[in-house]
This record gives sequence, structure tokens and C-alpha cells, in this order.
Amino acid sequence: MSSLPPTSAEDARWLARCLELAREAAAADEVPVGAVLVVDGVVVGEGRNRVEERQSPFAHAEMEALQQAVQVLGAKRLPMATLYCTLEPCFLCAGAVLHARVRRVVFGARDPKFGAVRSLGSVLEDPRLNHRCEVLEGVEAEASAELLRAFFRGKRGGNGGAAGGGAGGGGSRVGS
Ligand SMILES: [Zn+2]
Repeated sequence: MSSLPPTSAEDARWLARCLELAREAAAADEVPVGAVLVVDGVVVGEGRNRVEERQSPFAHAEMEALQQAVQVLGAKRLPMATLYCTLEPCFLCAGAVLHARVRRVVFGARDPKFGAVRSLGSVLEDPRLNHRCEVLEGVEAEASAELLRAFFRGKRGGNGGAAGGGAGGGGSRVGS
């Protein structure tokens, strides 16, 4: 039923799917971040980081999932949707979440270098905004963070160590 909040088992299940997408990103030599958008227990959008593939600083996992959902549903707003992602959304993606009126965001690890939800700001819960989002963090946080650490460990030596840790959905690699 759409009126019932998802259980934590459901949250963990969707985060596990996000982790699969993040692993796909890593396999394609992209910073491993994955995202899934769910409405009433059904996936309406999926995405992974494609900053390198698209050579676009905006090709974040969350953006891809949101854009897909907008297309699939033919709606410019997603008030019943929950966005799941492995990493704390950046300012770009948090802004997109607000514009799309997403109801809820569940993420894994914090991003101390780009996170706009808890780390560097609380964009989704600002009382001055006319839309606020329910936020849950820390689901599969360790697995999400370990994927990123492993990715950057692998990079180290290759390009002198890309920013180590804070992925920003790919943004932090720009300066590396
Ligand atoms: Zn982002």
C-alpha cells in the first residue's frame, strides 16, 4: 500500500540494487555510485555514475535515475518516489530532488567533500524551502564507502591518488 512507509528490509533491498549499479560503474572505471528511484515498491528509474563516459560533470547516478523516472512516468514531479543512493547526494542532485518533489531519500555513506544533505549542508530539510524531504542515511553505508575506497585505492599510483574518499559522484576527480 502506498500509504505505508517502506520497511527497513525494503530499504536494504533497494540499497543492495544501488550497490550493484555502483559496481557496474567501477567496472567501467567510473567512481562507483549507484541510484534507484522507487514508487510503491516498483523501480521507475535507475542510474550509475557516467561522468567519464559522457564527459559530463552532471552525469551523476541520481540524475540519471531521476531523469529516467520523469520519462517513464511522464510526470515532472515525483511526490510518491523514494530515491535510494549509495552516496550522500551532492548539491546538484539534492537540488534536482527538490525540483522533482521527491518524497524521501535514503542513502548509504556520507560524502564529506560534496554531500549536500548532511555533510556540507542540509538542503533537503531546510525549513525555508517549500518542499522538504524525508531523509534516512547509513543504509549499507559501510559497503558503499568500501566500494569507493577500493576504487580510489586502485587509482592511486595511476594518477597520484584521486582525492581519496569523497567522490562527489565523480566531481572530485576533476582536480586529480
Ligand atoms: Zn550528484
